[in-house]
Amino acid sequence: MFIVMKPASSRQDVEHILAELPRLDVIGRASEGALRPVIEVLEAGPGLDRRRLEQLPAVECVLDDPAQVLAAIRGAKGQTRPVPLGQRAHVGGRRVAVIAGPCSVEDEGRLLETAAAVAEAGAVALRGGAFKPRTSPYSFQGHGERALEMLARVRAETGLAVVTEVMSCEHIERVQPVADVLQVGSRNMHNTPLLKALGAQDKPILLKRGWSATLEEFLLAAEYIRQAGNSDVILCERGIRTHEEYVRNTLALGIVPEVKRVSDLPIIVDPSHGTGRAHLVAPMCRAAIACGADGLLIEVHPSPERAWSDGAQSLNLQEFRELMDGLRTLAAACDRDI
Ligand code: PEP
Ligand code: MN
Repeated sequence: MFIVMKPASSRQDVEHILAELPRLDVIGRASEGALRPVIEVLEAGPGLDRRRLEQLPAVECVLDDPAQVLAAIRGAKGQTRPVPLGQRAHVGGRRVAVIAGPCSVEDEGRLLETAAAVAEAGAVALRGGAFKPRTSPYSFQGHGERALEMLARVRAETGLAVVTEVMSCEHIERVQPVADVLQVGSRNMHNTPLLKALGAQDKPILLKRGWSATLEEFLLAAEYIRQAGNSDVILCERGIRTHEEYVRNTLALGIVPEVKRVSDLPIIVDPSHGTGRAHLVAPMCRAAIACGADGLLIEVHPSPERAWSDGAQSLNLQEFRELMDGLRTLAAACDRDI
């Protein structure tokens, strides 16, 4: 059971409720909450009277499960909180924010070539993995530190914001200075120590949906980051695992309007991991914009057939240019820019 405090309630209001709880036969624990304080009822004796709890000063409501709490404290419908993407752009506004680049950082020449091309085509940020979460230990694991140095130089040269993954708490310190946005991969969405550690950073976090996570688990993972002090979280739908095999993952686009309905967090769509197939990327980008996505995360490589990871789902530079040109008309029809 959870006691949700009123929006403007102070620390003293919370202290007051905590002091009252023993009289009501309740043991409770307060958490600051990203948006407002919430007191969890850890134990309740026979003397618990829910109505009396609800009538305590500064209490808004008493709810039974975390999903209800989330629904009660969410931002108002339609009010997405914009999150900065470097100095010059943000996610969660009229402009569809496009983040594009290779799956993994391979060499500096190819990274720079890709960055320049995606910037010219209208992307506002460069993606590229330095530390790669690969399913097989026999696959390329990323250049690590060396890739971070390449990202730093390309960032300085092109002015593009950089989005790159942090796989563990030990990486945070090394990735932080280079990245404008720290990415949490699908495999790590349930890694609560990592989420809490990222909550203490002053860089925005791109949180990818765990491939078996429900919407509620996804939103609660974001709450871990926000509760630890960092409210700049961008959600990313990247497909979930289903019985379907003609795609790598099943892109669950229905989550986009649903997030818009229940949360104030911006949500972007990754059609590359969401399909695993380059020819499905463009139609899924169009669908994502049409259903209200705040941005797109797209894998691009100068020669996908030679990519060290995820070539089958990467667009080449020309395909990316054509995609962006096509999306402009669609974005305008949806009252958006790109
Ligand atoms: C990625 O975007 O680099 C990645 C590994 O994706 P995911 O975590 O969604 O599998
Ligand atoms: Mn990839």
